Amino acid sequence: MNPSELRIHKVRLPLPLRLNHVNSYLIEDEEGWSVIDPGLATDNTLTVWTEALQRYDLTFGDIRRIIVTHYHPDHYGLAGMFQQWTDAAVYSSKETFDWADRTYHSESIRKSAQFSRKCGVPASLVAQMSEHNEELFTWVKPIEGAKVLLEPEEDILLGGTQFQVKFGNGHAEGSVGFLHQASGLFIGGDLLLEKITPNITYDYSTGADPLQDYFDTLKKLQTLHIQTVLPGHGEAFELSESFIDRVIEHHLERLQEIRSIWKHSNARELTPYEISTRLFPKVADPASVSFALGETVAHLRYLQKRNELVLIERDESLFCALL
Ligand SMILES: [Zn+2]
Repeated sequence: MNPSELRIHKVRLPLPLRLNHVNSYLIEDEEGWSVIDPGLATDNTLTVWTEALQRYDLTFGDIRRIIVTHYHPDHYGLAGMFQQWTDAAVYSSKETFDWADRTYHSESIRKSAQFSRKCGVPASLVAQMSEHNEELFTWVKPIEGAKVLLEPEEDILLGGTQFQVKFGNGHAEGSVGFLHQASGLFIGGDLLLEKITPNITYDYSTGADPLQDYFDTLKKLQTLHIQTVLPGHGEAFELSESFIDRVIEHHLERLQEIRSIWKHSNARELTPYEISTRLFPKVADPASVSFALGETVAHLRYLQKRNELVLIERDESLFCALL
């Protein structure tokens, strides 16, 4: 189905990051418009929004709902400002709001730096990672007005038709997607991306197993008869039958790569950072190092939970050894 038949219009927003854009969706409802994922709070985003609203002959006052799929800066950052301009409520999961509160302040940058050091990242690189986060967080504005909590499986009217709210984890806890059951159209945020696999985010502050969470999410999505995905990044794509299996396979291969790293190493113990540099040898810039480390630790955690690996804490450093 063509999204415009459901009155859904994509707005491609620029990002000053390696991933250079994020998709927002503008949806024409009966009594106003909804925006899904307003983007990052930069001047460039604002310029694109001004042009996009003009294209549809709208003003900010026509926006009735601001919907956020998950708390990551590129999706959530502008929601607070958008709310000030529109007076609309922001809709998302409780987890999204909680994670945003927990993440976007200097204390979380300090703790994240501490964790990176513990994982073996060199101090100079940790300093650059913190600098990157400080800049990134300036593009995330707090949401001070009304919030509406979305619940799993709840029905929501978008573009005058019924969608169902679907929850997912692994990339960002409490991510929400919207399924139009009649056509199989799925507005998925970053739950399903075509060209890149969504980063599995490990957070130092929880004992979670995000890779298993993502597998569970993928298996659930596989049962939903999704036909077309409107993703948070890249073009809309048809979800082939094997697509989700291939994403799972990709992560299973990565687990296998981790197991084999020890075969080519003389060391019994390796730091998470050493493992991440072997899994992602080309990664160098601070933002990519953070992604690579988070993804690595998520996979290590998965192996640890299955008693294949131990994570040993010694002298404020983390080491891993295969069992
Ligand atoms: Zn994301």
